[in-house]
Amino acid sequence: MTRRLRLAIPNKGRLVEPTVRLLRDAGLVFEAGERALMARVQNYDLDILFVRTNDIVEFVSDGVAELGITGLDLVAESGADVPQIKMLGYGRCRLTIAVPNDSPYRAAEDLAGLRVATSHLSLTRKFFEARSIPVNVIPVSGAAEVAPRLGLAEAIVDLVSTGSTMVVNGLRPIEEVFASEAVLLANSTALNQDGAVFAQVETMLSATLAARDRKYLMMNAPQAKAAELEDLLPGLESPSVIPLAHEGMIAIHAVVDADQVWSLLPRLKAAGASGILILPIEKLVS
Ligand code: AMP
Repeated sequence: MTRRLRLAIPNKGRLVEPTVRLLRDAGLVFEAGERALMARVQNYDLDILFVRTNDIVEFVSDGVAELGITGLDLVAESGADVPQIKMLGYGRCRLTIAVPNDSPYRAAEDLAGLRVATSHLSLTRKFFEARSIPVNVIPVSGAAEVAPRLGLAEAIVDLVSTGSTMVVNGLRPIEEVFASEAVLLANSTALNQDGAVFAQVETMLSATLAARDRKYLMMNAPQAKAAELEDLLPGLESPSVIPLAHEGMIAIHAVVDADQVWSLLPRLKAAGASGILILPIEKLVS
């Protein structure tokens, strides 16, 4: 592929900040102005298009952009058969059925014959059809959470991450319809023509995401403690053990899960480690 790739990302909303942060952490250098429609990446053959989150699936399917980042819920809602290259682990949320706190409904089956307000029409219809529950789906363009209070519906189907919006609106979740997170999409024709370029972008983002979840630990210890410390430190494969100039002493280096670091430290110290350093990892290619 000789021309530059185009990557469509959201221009507004909750996926903007984590998406721009991921691309910058991946080392891409570009300017993202408030009103810019496009940014040229200065150090990679890529142009970034800033478009509505809702339009990204279509842009990628049609080949307006070769790559796109959006919510998996929007891909599923559109029904488009667009290749998903990588789940990105942020923008996590659940499309959830919720009912007013004081209502008697406990499960989706209890809603048979009732009205369900949502802006996620296709996923909602598919869910109830698959379970053979006849409901009347009421389309709303947003703010579904107020529909029960307005007497528009007995239940809603809406996206939830923390659940606080539902609590504020006196709603209680009863069942999950779909689990979503941000996803990297590719145009299928472009992908078939030059898979290697897409693999490169996938590696770039994967290595950046993987590095965020890990820390590099370095410590000194008496040689006699090596086996005990190695048991505590599985590392990527096994930890590196390096002899030190001081006879009988070693250095141990290991990659560990970031969220295990604080619980590991006292155990490492108790096992004889000293001078423990915790370092960030820039990129991790596995
Ligand atoms: P936006 O409406 O532009 O802020 O973005 C909507 C997209 O963000 C959705 O399609 C989801 O993929 C994702 N998302 C993540 N958490 C939530 C949430 N709590 N509510 C709505 N959308 C969310």
